[in-house]
Amino acid sequence: MNYNKKSIEDIEFNGKKVLTRCDFNVPQDEEGNITDDSRIRAALPTIEYMLSNQAAVILCSHLGRPKGEFNTKYSLAPVASRLSELLGKEVKLAKDVIGPDADTLTAALQPGEVMLLENVRFHKEEEKNDPEFAKKLASYADIYVNDAFGTAHRAHASTAGVADYLPAVGGYLIDKEISTMGSALQDPRRPFVAILGGAKVSDKIGVINNLLEKVDTLIVGGGMAYTFVRATGGTIGQSLCEEDKLDYAREMLEKAESKGVKFLLPTDTIAAEEFAADAKAVTVETNSIPDNLMGLDIGPETRKKFTDAVKTAGTVVWNGPMGVFEFEQFAEGTRAIARALAESNAISIIGGGDSAAAIKQLGFADKMTHISTGGGASLEFLEGLELPGIACLMDR
Ligand code: AMP
Repeated sequence: MNYNKKSIEDIEFNGKKVLTRCDFNVPQDEEGNITDDSRIRAALPTIEYMLSNQAAVILCSHLGRPKGEFNTKYSLAPVASRLSELLGKEVKLAKDVIGPDADTLTAALQPGEVMLLENVRFHKEEEKNDPEFAKKLASYADIYVNDAFGTAHRAHASTAGVADYLPAVGGYLIDKEISTMGSALQDPRRPFVAILGGAKVSDKIGVINNLLEKVDTLIVGGGMAYTFVRATGGTIGQSLCEEDKLDYAREMLEKAESKGVKFLLPTDTIAAEEFAADAKAVTVETNSIPDNLMGLDIGPETRKKFTDAVKTAGTVVWNGPMGVFEFEQFAEGTRAIARALAESNAISIIGGGDSAAAIKQLGFADKMTHISTGGGASLEFLEGLELPGIACLMDR
């Protein structure tokens, strides 16, 4: 994939209408109040840049899963009012996506003004990437800006389809995702260390395979590590194990060896008899876990080994917790990695999801080079796959 894509700074906006795909898929409470507005805040730099360059900004986004029909529960109205407060200017909300209200409002929109279309997923054509729907959306504007990384791995009408009809560039959020993760994959500061964790090997198959082509050290922790330990002949008690992935695990260990990549697995484990917050925890050797126990976090020796690798790294990519961090007594492994990253001088790239949440919870977010705004999208990016929402942007 080409990571050298045009951004909003590479294009003239003067007086033009710009269809901008944002990720306003914010969490809400029962009454529809926004409980976390970080996604709206994150979109501000791109919107403000375009407005100050005299663009007429037409925003669009999805919210939840309305399954292709209008549903007030999934209206972007709360987003429009929050965005309006944050921008300090009116954000008109169209009552529809490609209907008469959107026609009128987009036609009347002036440079320096901003409006929002209703939830693009009110039309089933959105997720089907229907060309007629994409063409109609595109007809509202002269330029397309994609700033929704969280949906960039989906070929939907508003995330990729519209780029068939408009010159397309990335907003600041997308641009930062591409430049930090792209340069880590293409030309990383070495040693390049990847840390993968979480529950399932099967979710990360493509990532492991691709990263083994790039990294100097691959660290595997979390529940997925036990499949690898089992594959090398260890006994893992009741720990998570994907029997049908044992051959794959062996293949990856061999690949690492043939490429001279260091493959670090846990050597000690914090284990318990049951999967529970108050289970009695004991530290055992990872490759001989007693029959009645399951591994729920990496042990102290492993914490040291993994964090030592982080300390000397030039670049670290991290995706997935080292243990069941939701339970306090099995959270230390994940915390130790987060802390080591915060203290290191390495370029630190955090995949979305649980590892990003852990970093934020610990207050280390501002110490990271980059926290990806898309869990699924960042995994696909690290797999080396082509993301439709990025591939559709113009090359620099
Ligand atoms: P994933 O969605 O694959 O990134 O997995 C995240 C989940 O993995 C978290 O909810 C963790 O609680 C869980 N997890 C991490 N380590 C373990 C483990 N040793 N056993 C069971 N679950 C784990």
